Amino acid sequence: MTALPSGFRFSQAALQDYVDCPRRFHLRYVRQVAWPAVTATPAAEWERHLANGAAFHRLVQQHLLGIPAERLSHTIADDDLRRWWRNYLTGGPRGLPETRYPETVLSAPLGGYRLVAKYDLVAVAAGERAVIVDWKTARRRPRREHLARRLQTRVYPYLLVRAGAHLGGGQPFAPEQVEMVYWFADFPGQEERFAYDEERYLADEAYLADLVQEITARADDFPLTEETARCRHCPYRSLCRRGERAGPFAELAAEVEGETDFDLILDIEQIAELAF
Ligand code: SF4
Repeated sequence: MTALPSGFRFSQAALQDYVDCPRRFHLRYVRQVAWPAVTATPAAEWERHLANGAAFHRLVQQHLLGIPAERLSHTIADDDLRRWWRNYLTGGPRGLPETRYPETVLSAPLGGYRLVAKYDLVAVAAGERAVIVDWKTARRRPRREHLARRLQTRVYPYLLVRAGAHLGGGQPFAPEQVEMVYWFADFPGQEERFAYDEERYLADEAYLADLVQEITARADDFPLTEETARCRHCPYRSLCRRGERAGPFAELAAEVEGETDFDLILDIEQIAELAF
């Protein structure tokens, strides 16, 4: 049995790590190895992109909390960030319910641990519907099939149904009342929407429970991924003898069309850790 650190909580990022590469999960969450390697080169370009992603999430949060857009606009110095912000102001997701909960955290027990999710935004009409919005700042727009496979697309709606009753005035949301929306800062008007239902909810519950059971039943046998392309932008590549130099940032963005984990790297929880 794997001894996870005390207080360990499963997030979509941790589960995605395990699915993508069990060894990465082990290094990052069990051994908690902090490996000082850059994710992509040139490092300065990658770091600027990360900082802009974090800044964009902060801007939108402040706006949703009531700070006037004009005041926030004056704080922006970077061209990419200015473009994303303008796209948000002119082409943000439409038709959202009126009550907004930005940067909301929900959690529920799962397999002897807790499952936790941090939402960019949950927009609610109590007793009617809830829309989860996730802001994405990737330079390429991922395909729908790619997003459908992501743990985030399963964990977020599941946890909102399971643990989001207080957001709906004390009444749990039925799966059919929940929708997940990915909004892309460089592709306004091309958001991706995922409906939810009872069948999906039950399937997600069984899948997530099985995944946690599989992880916790392992001893120390967390294999390296066979998808070596994933190692190019993984900070543990030299530790795993999967290369010394980070892959190019331009290729990382291109791989969003494939199977790699730009979303994971840009997970807002990790951005927050980097930024603060
Ligand atoms: S370098 Fe490759 S094998 Fe090692 S943890 Fe990263 S993705 Fe897994």
